[in-house]
Amino acid sequence: MKNAVGTTVISHGQIVDGTGAAPIPHGTVVIQDGRLTYVGPQVGAPAVPPDAMRIDARGGTIMPGLIEAHFHPTYFNVAALEDLDIKYPVEYVTILAACNAKLALECGYTAARSGGSLFNIDVWLKKAIEKDLVPGPRMASSGREICGVGGLMDWNPDYRKIGMEGLVLLVNGPDEARSAVRKLVKDGIEWVKTYPTGDAAAPDANDHHTLCMTFEEMHAVVATAHNHNLKVTGHCRATEGIKNALRAGYDAIEHGTFMDDEAMDLLLARDVPVVPALYFELASIEKGPEFGLGQKVIDGHQETLDGGAESARRILKEGGRLGMGGDYGFAWNPHGDYARELSFFVNYVGFTPLQTIMCATKTGAEILGRSHEIGTLEVGKLADVLIVDGDVVKDITLLEKRDRFIGVMQGGIIKAGQLA
Ligand SMILES: [Zn+2]
Repeated sequence: MKNAVGTTVISHGQIVDGTGAAPIPHGTVVIQDGRLTYVGPQVGAPAVPPDAMRIDARGGTIMPGLIEAHFHPTYFNVAALEDLDIKYPVEYVTILAACNAKLALECGYTAARSGGSLFNIDVWLKKAIEKDLVPGPRMASSGREICGVGGLMDWNPDYRKIGMEGLVLLVNGPDEARSAVRKLVKDGIEWVKTYPTGDAAAPDANDHHTLCMTFEEMHAVVATAHNHNLKVTGHCRATEGIKNALRAGYDAIEHGTFMDDEAMDLLLARDVPVVPALYFELASIEKGPEFGLGQKVIDGHQETLDGGAESARRILKEGGRLGMGGDYGFAWNPHGDYARELSFFVNYVGFTPLQTIMCATKTGAEILGRSHEIGTLEVGKLADVLIVDGDVVKDITLLEKRDRFIGVMQGGIIKAGQLA
């Protein structure tokens, strides 16, 4: 991705740097050739050349671009599990994914980690974004997901003779788990996404307390992935599934819904980040009935919401790391609503706005493996900056309002917002 050339100065706003530190009032940010060279009070800012571009933050907020840590670029208006797979042909899904990436950038998300993708679309989407062919967040890709046969993602009955090969690699035993990871190595992905547990969405055979992979399969995934320098994460709701993942050496946990003391100890011992993706549960409860979700499913989402909120509070309190992502792309939780996750964590879960922003910026960059380049406003990093007309610390919901974005920058280039 190209960086800006020359000098840009952003001033007249408070700086929220993404580290969780208190905002710097009357701040100035100086960008040289796409990288941050000064972040601090206006008094003390270095002199800049007369031809520097100047951006007025209008008394609002200057902060790092947001990072969506559980992004499904190929999900689009999903109303049932089946929609994840064969609703549209791959050609059309590729175009939809490019549209979703553009939308995410317009929503202030300058980076995103895929939480799984149909076929290999996110790998190529990432390449197209990096080459500036299409606008979108800097991405880490996952490609197809891995699940045990008969697990959450294996819903097509055999008599239909429909495979799941576009969405998920189904495995029986460690040998097949290894072979699935090797396919993904060849695909060029970075994060192996697995399904250690079920979900409230499948209340009969694969609910949120069911295991969908064995420890041996998970361990084989991790050993093979780590050998090839890939990272591993998984959809983990059931307590035993979380523990299996942590013991197998997972690099992140998606959801981490039902944590007990032992799971917390295992998590904190290796400082494994968790992406709760929790607003989805509330959205499913509130809007699910109008999309035909049954009472059993709604009840499961309620239990997941309660358990997940409690676990998230505990993880933050005990010094763990949380990324903000949201499983957006469902009919009741559409792309474009990404920052609802942040408002939800402040207003429902009880995090402070600064904690929530840190999770959505600094920790997100750590999950992407790019914390040396992005995620906070610190000298030397890429100028991925969001300039908001208003005080996001007083009102986190401003981050949901695209029309309040003065600028969304990647590498010092304004890509979206009023100035674009
Ligand atoms: Zn997901």
